[in-house]
Amino acid sequence: MTTMLERVRCNLCGADDDAPFMEIDGSHIVRCRKCGLIYVNPRYPQASLQEIYTESYYDHDGINNGREFYGYDDYLQDEENIRITFARRLKTIERFAETGRLLDVGCATGFFLDLARQQGWNALGTEVSQFGAAYAREKLNLDVRIGTLRSLDLNDASFDVVTMWDVIEHVVDPMSELREIHRLLRSGGVLSIITPDAGSFVARLLGRRWEEYRRVREHVYFFSRATLTHMLQECGFDVLLTESADKVFYLGPAVKRLKYYAWDGRLTRAATRLVYWLGLDKVRVNINPLTKITVYARKTS
Ligand SMILES: [Zn+2]
Repeated sequence: MTTMLERVRCNLCGADDDAPFMEIDGSHIVRCRKCGLIYVNPRYPQASLQEIYTESYYDHDGINNGREFYGYDDYLQDEENIRITFARRLKTIERFAETGRLLDVGCATGFFLDLARQQGWNALGTEVSQFGAAYAREKLNLDVRIGTLRSLDLNDASFDVVTMWDVIEHVVDPMSELREIHRLLRSGGVLSIITPDAGSFVARLLGRRWEEYRRVREHVYFFSRATLTHMLQECGFDVLLTESADKVFYLGPAVKRLKYYAWDGRLTRAATRLVYWLGLDKVRVNINPLTKITVYARKTS
């Protein structure tokens, strides 16, 4: 199937004035000359971008070659570590918000919703992936709606907290998405976003080798702290806290992941063998490569 690529304006400032930033496997990433937002242009239309979010998205071995670079190695097997990471994030949210009604946009298999529910939150999720939503509903008995946020017609001011983790970089119109979240939050409600940090040292150092740029099949926007803050302000939010997102991994898979960056594959394979041979593969490590932004923001008006 051939899909026509479409040209888009800058989602943040509306300008049609971008400069080439980098090319990856035939996809063009550009940078707005006016506001600095980095995005894929031209790009596939929304329906085509969404085709990848099937079961294999969460258990995908081919994320190291060209256009197939997307998804997770084995999301479900990593459940325990994901839950530890999410529990820490929930603690931070609870510094800014009283327990109440929570919406997780792009909730995947629902691990965070499940955790929030255990902590007393009334939690609802949205997910475009049929696989993710079905898992959350059937295995965890969660309330998850299938579709994009704007297709669901949720009520005004009906949530105290909205979380959107590792999602905004996939969304075709992030400004509208943030405005929709603004509508759904009550006044003073809190939004938490996590997204790759294109302004980070690692992103600048690695350039087109950076894993997040190589995911051009799924990522269509690349934010820095500055452009994300700017967009949040445009949409009626005040930033409360910005930090780098950490994540808990098992040492084995963490070392294996180095293959995406390795200048010499033999070195990575040797290191991986060593870690497994020493029996350290299931040792839990907390890694913060400073390559993801976490923002907590409050609806101001
Ligand atoms: Zn712009």
